Amino acid sequence: SAERRGHEQALYDESLGHDAEQRLLIENALRLAIERDQLELHYQPKVELASGRIIGVEALARWRDRTTGEWIAPDRFIAVAEESGLILVLGAWALREACRQNREWAAQGLPPLVVAVNLSAVQLQQSDLPSVVRRILAETGMPAEYLELELTESAIMEYPEQANLLLRELKSLGVKLSIDDFGTGYSSLAYLSRFPVDLLKIDRSFINALEQDSSAAAIATSIIAMAHQLGLQVIAEGVETERQLAFLQRHGCDQIQGYYFSKPLAAADLGWLLTQDRRL
Ligand code: C2E
Ligand code: CA
Ligand code: CA
Ligand code: CA
Repeated sequence: SAERRGHEQALYDESLGHDAEQRLLIENALRLAIERDQLELHYQPKVELASGRIIGVEALARWRDRTTGEWIAPDRFIAVAEESGLILVLGAWALREACRQNREWAAQGLPPLVVAVNLSAVQLQQSDLPSVVRRILAETGMPAEYLELELTESAIMEYPEQANLLLRELKSLGVKLSIDDFGTGYSSLAYLSRFPVDLLKIDRSFINALEQDSSAAAIATSIIAMAHQLGLQVIAEGVETERQLAFLQRHGCDQIQGYYFSKPLAAADLGWLLTQDRRL
C-alpha cells in the first residue's frame, strides 16, 4: 500500500531529524516485519582451537529491507525493539527459529552443533523467561545442551540478584550460559563467577587492539588465565587476523569466532560449510 511504502521510505530518510519520530517509524516497520515473518537468523561459526572444528554457531538477527533488498544490521533495530518491548516477541522468535534450524541441520545428518542465541536485558527482567525457554525446547524437540544463551555483563549487572535467580532456573533446564562482551563493563571476574555461567566471551574491542595495545593483550591474557582457574571456557569474538589467532592459541583460548574464519552466514550456506568439514 501507499502508506506502507511511505513508511519504508521514511525509515531511510537521513534528513528526518526527530529521533522519536524515526524510532516510531522503525518500531512500526519492525512490528510488521515480525508479523510477516520477514526476519531471518544468520549464523556465525564458533571454532574450537584444539580441533580446528566448528563446534557451534551464534545466531544473529537480520532484517531485509524489502525496497532495497539490503540487510539491515541489528544495531539499527535491536535498541528500538528493546525500548518498545517488541524485543520480547523478537527474542522468543529468535529462540524458536534457532532451535528449529539446529534440529533441521541434525536431521540432515550434519555434526551436532551448539546454537547460541543473544538475550536482551529486557528478556532477563521477565520472570517467565525460563518457562518460555522450556516450552520452546519442548516444541522444537531441541536437547537443552545444544542451546546456549548469551547475556551481556551489563544485562546481568542491571539487577544482579534477580539475574542470579533467573540464571539458576535457566541453568537447571540444562542450557549453556555465556557472558557476552566481557571486559567492557566494570564487574570483576571473581564476582561474575558467582553466576552459573559456562563460558566467557572476550569482547571484540580487546581482540581488535591485541597487536597495537600491550594493555589489551595483558587484559586478554589474564582474562583467559583467570577464567580457566574459575572453571570457565573462553571464546574470543571478532578475530580477524592470523596474528590475533596465533596470540589466542598461544594463551590457551578455547574457541574463536570472527571474520578470520567466517562471517555470519545464511542457514543454507552454514549447512554447506559444515558438509565441507573445513578446519581452521
Ligand atoms: P554481539 O552479540 O556482540 O554479536 C557479535 C557482532 O559482531 C555481530 O554483529 C557480528 O556480525 C559481528 N562480528 C563477528 N565477527 C566479527 C569480526 O571479525 N569483525 C567485526 N568487526 N565484527 C564481527 P551484528 O550481527 O551486527 O550484531 C550486533 C549486535 O546486535 C550483537 O552483538 C547483539 O548484541 C545484537 N543482536 C543481534 N541479534 C540479536 C538477537 O537476536 N537478539 C538480541 N537481543 N540481540 C541481537
Ligand atoms: Ca553475542
Ligand atoms: Ca559480543
Ligand atoms: Ca558486542
